[in-house]
Amino acid sequence: AELLNIEGLKVEVEGKEILKGLDLTVRAGEVHVIMGTNGAGKSTLFNAVMGHPKYTVTGGSIFFEGKDITRMPVDERAKAGIFMAFQAPIAVQGISVENFTRSAKSTISGETQRIMPFRKKLKAQMEELKMDSSYASRYVNDGFSGGERKKTEILQMCMLEPKLAMLDEIDSGLDVDAVRVVSQTVAKYHDEGNALMVITHHSEILQGLQPDVVHVLIDGKIVKSGGPELIQVIEEKGYDSFR
Ligand code: ADP
Ligand code: MG
Ligand code: MG
Repeated sequence: AELLNIEGLKVEVEGKEILKGLDLTVRAGEVHVIMGTNGAGKSTLFNAVMGHPKYTVTGGSIFFEGKDITRMPVDERAKAGIFMAFQAPIAVQGISVENFTRSAKSTISGETQRIMPFRKKLKAQMEELKMDSSYASRYVNDGFSGGERKKTEILQMCMLEPKLAMLDEIDSGLDVDAVRVVSQTVAKYHDEGNALMVITHHSEILQGLQPDVVHVLIDGKIVKSGGPELIQVIEEKGYDSFR
């Protein structure tokens, strides 16, 4: 089944056109990798799909499960099953990881999450991610290292169980052990009922994931889509040959 369908998407940020007509279709069960030069518009694409108000759609449409979500607010998209792990997660003062995640889960699922069962699930998920359980009661990302912030994003993905998860450079700033743990957790999360979109500059995070499609994004457009063999080509030759 088609989850995401993007047609001719144009997006402006602060008056500047960043995405210049982008088409993309993602089906349940698929893994899509987005690679491309710095500033090409990769994060902009994810933010536009999530509905971040700073990213203005000036042309084209975004459909999710056949429904036009182009003008839908971010919280409704989250409820529909769209999730984004941020490239640079910010701290949220005054609310713990556990309460933040439980509240998000209640809102998104429409079902109140009882404290004890939720805590048990959260702790098990943290264990899988090799996060110290003390992080559950700390304020979200407050004083967290880059790697701990990225793990917290993946923790939220696992707990919220989105149909479409967009992971923006989830591997940047992670040591080799953390990359392994995160990639294993992401691979375990992925199944035929959900889809992943992964922005990365490295292939390690994709181990165990078997990407279906790799897209090369340059200057606001997808200039090439192909199989996983594209990753090798990019790592060997860079982006010059795609321009
Ligand atoms: P990528 O993720 O491919 O490196 P981005 O989508 O982050 O690129 O950025 C594309 C362009 O849009 C860049 O020139 C960037 O400076 C600009 N941009 C993105 N987000 C913002 C923002 N929130 N405010 C201002 N400029 C932005
Ligand atoms: Mg698959
Ligand atoms: Mg980016």
